[in-house]
Amino acid sequence: MFDKADRLRKLPPYLFKEIDRKKMELRAKGVDLIDLGIGDPDLPTPGHIIEAMKKAVGDAVNHRYPSYSGMLEFRAAVAEWYKRRFNVDLDPEKEVLTLIGSKEGIAHLPLAFVNPGDVSLVPSPGYPVYNIATFFCGGESYTMPLLREKGFLPDLDAIPSDVVRRAKVMFINYPNNPTAAVADVTFYEMVVEFAARNRLLVCHDAAYSEVAYDGYRPPSFLQAKGAKEVGIEFHSLSKTYNMTGWRVGFATGNREAIDGLSAIKSNVDSGVFQAIQFAGITALRGDQACVQKMNDIYTERRDLMVSQLKKAGFELDTPKASFYLWIKTPKGYSSAQLATRLLEKGVVVTPGNGFGEPGEGYFRIALTQKKARLEEAMQRIKTVSF
Ligand SMILES: *Cc1c(COP(=O)(O)O)cnc(C)c1O
Repeated sequence: MFDKADRLRKLPPYLFKEIDRKKMELRAKGVDLIDLGIGDPDLPTPGHIIEAMKKAVGDAVNHRYPSYSGMLEFRAAVAEWYKRRFNVDLDPEKEVLTLIGSKEGIAHLPLAFVNPGDVSLVPSPGYPVYNIATFFCGGESYTMPLLREKGFLPDLDAIPSDVVRRAKVMFINYPNNPTAAVADVTFYEMVVEFAARNRLLVCHDAAYSEVAYDGYRPPSFLQAKGAKEVGIEFHSLSKTYNMTGWRVGFATGNREAIDGLSAIKSNVDSGVFQAIQFAGITALRGDQACVQKMNDIYTERRDLMVSQLKKAGFELDTPKASFYLWIKTPKGYSSAQLATRLLEKGVVVTPGNGFGEPGEGYFRIALTQKKARLEEAMQRIKTVSF
């Protein structure tokens, strides 16, 4: 009866549809599927954060509309955390904004800065929201392919000058989903220089900044000299504190960018439930031992899977960060064929092309299952001869 708007009718195809359909079909048949496809931590939110929420939820002060830009105390806790973690100074009033999860902020940002016909520079393979959010504004995405031989970093010099001229924003994401690649401050300084020269707003998605191995600490984009003049960084409590269901994140950096995003948001949503912000304050200001504990668990899982996969003949790099493994498909297999083959054995993996065409020839495994389940998955994978 109702014609959907063009922006829905012309939505880029959802490439996981076929896998999702087969998953449902097998589950309905009662097959015990091991899902290594989900980018959602299986571990619970640390107890002290839950306690803070319990305390705050009963206080009537928190039952009213929160402030649009977030409680000043939450934003101050973010600024303190940035100082301790990255040695970056932030003004909590002008350079920090509370978000209903970082996805919300990323999705709304182009509404503030992208006009119809403008270009967003978007990494591929990548988190689909950068592309879709641009499309919703009538903008065009220009794909920056992330290639293994370039360390899965975009090649800025390869972007045609007429595209650069029309570009308004550039999305980057390290530690990266899905490739698990990391970037150093030198790369961020190149990005800052490129953005300043071409008047671009850089949006760095740092959702995995705290999920890292072997003592490695991923840097913030804002550590690069001049970054605050050209960029905004998105963080999330989702992966750091196993809080994906709570919906709380934040944006930091350039004042005009924060201000623009805030103006869009104040017309769309009414902020984050204050009790959740209190829980977030406890998370950011509290003991960070829970983060180390979580990373120790992922490390054990990573080591198990990397060694077993290599033994089984798969080609992959050992990740320094994120909870993903990005693995080459065996010779003769496309991403979709490989995913289908493993699905027949009861193992769900994500085909790399679902994150964009340059992801073809890879598949992604998430380390978000218990060790025993991962071992069982490996047993099943080993029964396939490629
Ligand atoms: C999980 C994820 C996010 C979003 O997380 P929120 O729960 O919305 O904060 C953002 N970017 C990437 C790359 C992710 O994988």
